[in-house]
Amino acid sequence: MAKHVEIVSIGNELLIGKTLNTNAQWLARRITSLGLCVTRITAVHDDVKEIATILREAIARNPNFIFTTGGLGPTFDDLTLTGIAEALNSKLKVDEKALIMVKKKYGDLAKKLAHKQFELTPARIKMATIPEGAQPLPNPIGTAPAIAIRHSDVTVFVLPGVPPEMKAIFENSVFSILKKAAGSLIFVEANLCVSGITESEIAPLIDQVMQNNPNVYIKSHPLGAEGKPEIELHLSTTTRDSEEATNQISRAKSQLSEVIKAKDGTTKLGTRMRNPEGASF
Ligand code: AMP
Ligand code: MG
Repeated sequence: MAKHVEIVSIGNELLIGKTLNTNAQWLARRITSLGLCVTRITAVHDDVKEIATILREAIARNPNFIFTTGGLGPTFDDLTLTGIAEALNSKLKVDEKALIMVKKKYGDLAKKLAHKQFELTPARIKMATIPEGAQPLPNPIGTAPAIAIRHSDVTVFVLPGVPPEMKAIFENSVFSILKKAAGSLIFVEANLCVSGITESEIAPLIDQVMQNNPNVYIKSHPLGAEGKPEIELHLSTTTRDSEEATNQISRAKSQLSEVIKAKDGTTKLGTRMRNPEGASF
């Protein structure tokens, strides 16, 4: 069975609609493509109690991994680490490795800007103050390190909010851990774009093909306007055997094309097959 993952997005800006939660979307896609299963995405304010509560609730559901993004910076509203320490009953303390990472960042920045050495202010030390037992993960782009912390059977990855930083840390420090956890599971997907037939006409055809292909999930995405129907059908599966997954998707896709053509000969079919892991079929 696929490993379970929860994503917790932290930041007031997400909840007032100022910032689109692209981090959760990117993580969900990346994690799914690695063969794991994202079971929940939540968003909370920059508030210690809310962060601690959402973390405790997520841990109680016993996923294999929890990701948080946001709230790791030097400002007053960056409260994620305090919330996490509270949820895990651990103390915050200055971590030597994290402090070296932060010092090096400011040393490099001073050189680059031909600036006098940056002082290690409380705001900068705050970025190296992490829950006891946490491992700092280097941030190749920004200053605040991310962290990984184990709690019972759950590994919590605490990543920054700035999207390029979050992505770089994921690729450098998280990817290989998730890949190993996924084992031989592989996610395969395909698309079929149809026009000239309505979603309600397609609905029973999807049911029929899904019954014949129980491991394949088919989701219809209406794209057209009233009177000009255009639908993207997305087929996906997460299976242990890559050849079998590919065959299942191909079989379901041809069955779907056939039943749609049989229903309405004027329907136009287009294809856009893609496997984000790079394997084509
Ligand atoms: P933070 O580290 O929480 O102070 O976030 C820094 C910046 O990253 C914010 O100002 C947002 O522009 C951006 N950001 C934070 N969370 C997200 C998110 N979930 N998706 C996209 N951008 C985000
Ligand atoms: Mg924030």
